[in-house]
Amino acid sequence: MALIVQKYGGTSVGSVERIQAVARRVRKTVAKGNAVVVVVSAMGNSTDTLVNLAKQISSSPSPREMDMLLSTGEQVSIALLSMALHELGQAAISLTGAQVGIVTDAEHSRARILKIKTERIQRHLELEEVLVVAGFQGISTRDDREITTLGRGGSDTSAVALAASLQAQECQIYTDVDGIFTTDPRLVPSARLMESITCDEMLELASLGAKVLHPRAVEIARNYGVPLTVLSSYSDAPGTHVVSQVPKPRSLTGLEITKAVDGVEFQRNLAKVALLGVADRPGVAANLFREIARQGIDVDLIIQSIHEGNSNDIAFTVLTEDLDKAEAAARKVFPEVEVKVDPAIAKVEIVGAGMIGRPGVAAQMFSTLAAARINIQMISTSEVKVSCVIHEQYCDGALAALCRGYAVHNYTETTTAPNEYPPVRGVALDHNQARLAILGIPDISGMAAKIFGALADNKISVDTIIQSQRCRARDGIDTRDIAFTVAQGHAQMAKSALADLAKTVDLEAILIDDSIAKLSIVGAGMVAKPGVAARFFAALAEGGINIQMIATSEIKVSCVIAESEGKKALEIVHDAFELCG
Ligand code: ASP
Ligand code: MG
Repeated sequence: MALIVQKYGGTSVGSVERIQAVARRVRKTVAKGNAVVVVVSAMGNSTDTLVNLAKQISSSPSPREMDMLLSTGEQVSIALLSMALHELGQAAISLTGAQVGIVTDAEHSRARILKIKTERIQRHLELEEVLVVAGFQGISTRDDREITTLGRGGSDTSAVALAASLQAQECQIYTDVDGIFTTDPRLVPSARLMESITCDEMLELASLGAKVLHPRAVEIARNYGVPLTVLSSYSDAPGTHVVSQVPKPRSLTGLEITKAVDGVEFQRNLAKVALLGVADRPGVAANLFREIARQGIDVDLIIQSIHEGNSNDIAFTVLTEDLDKAEAAARKVFPEVEVKVDPAIAKVEIVGAGMIGRPGVAAQMFSTLAAARINIQMISTSEVKVSCVIHEQYCDGALAALCRGYAVHNYTETTTAPNEYPPVRGVALDHNQARLAILGIPDISGMAAKIFGALADNKISVDTIIQSQRCRARDGIDTRDIAFTVAQGHAQMAKSALADLAKTVDLEAILIDDSIAKLSIVGAGMVAKPGVAARFFAALAEGGINIQMIATSEIKVSCVIAESEGKKALEIVHDAFELCG
């Protein structure tokens, strides 16, 4: 007999009829010979309704009382679903998070699951009862027994954590869409439903997929190898499989990593090629990387920083053995541009799903490296990774410092072996971003740490960060520029935080542009496969779209473009990678 965990979201239990439909589906799953644990969200928008009630009474309600309030939503839906199952003649029992023993830390409104006691669930399963468990909630057992919630959208996390703890055969997340699409189907109607996606890709596509599947749930699935499927509660379509490699066995206590960063990675034998002052117009990156791809060279990190006047800097890394060919290609495409190379660099990275939306993680990396007196040559960030390029001789020191700083036991070499996954699985457009650029920052170690520390102190989450390649002399000191993106709503706050900083640090200017969009391609198969980025840039060039910034991780390439061109760019790129259904 297989054990299946099913989770139904708010819309799937939004009415009496929907609850009855869920009961029938659960009953069918049992009839096929499965044991079933069901996790449900609160009905429809009832959590929002509760939040609004609280707001009418207090502008800053106590987090403890908020948890007391919001946890009631799920208590309603579990009881009703259990009753609906009884009506179908199905033995069932509803349990709150506390009754199950979903033990969390004591952080109200954003608690993390420490462990799940499974004895009571096992007892009911032996009696052939269906368990109906309240999602999104748990209990902290540290002092008094306090009801906690996991944060909005947390029922996915409850479901996957239960599946991991019970070693379920499968965790099925039922929602109101058919699964995960190659891009947002509301923007691109030809978007195709994905048959499968890896957990890592899913995390990098957070701006596309987070509404369908909570990143914390994906992280648990990845860490414990939980087979996960996202599917519609309105149809019998097979949905999307979210797959992971079989992970190393790990303890079920401390289940949700409470740390933002759970890995430190590195890669050596890399070389850097930087082109200083290429023209700021469509087609430049496309021409460069088309030639590099034609030579069969795989490019790793690519960054393009903001333009000064009307020129850009583009820098990228390749294996040291490919440096000569890459340099020759760059000089061939841009004979009149200054090309600088460095044959001995290393890439150090911090990795972790917990850094999504958590300010200060990148800042800590920069200050750790600064404290070790290591100069950062390139920075590139993605949803779940921050990569810094440093001189190779500092690699060991950097790894030791980062492991210490983030309390990570061991560092690992970034996997760069070719694989069978498609090079591009999905395309995400994020137009809710603004770009800030800080010009003329003194080129001394510790500046990135200061800047992103100041933003973190103001609770501002930074998205893509890019440091320019070029040094300019001002009053006898070398300076650089750093650009980054933040959520549009945080742009002004970020600017004033930096204006404060400018009182003590000598900066030239702080520029803000909120009419930008970030377009990203994500695919586990782009690792060690030349030409993927080139195709992306070429598609944009053919559409006459100018690239303002580029940042990459191993499985993601992001371009910042003008917001007004976002939708068109998304369509073109989605098409170029033949993702249409
Ligand atoms: N009801 C909670 C919310 O709306 C949890 C969930 O639905 O996942 O955030
Ligand atoms: Mg949800």
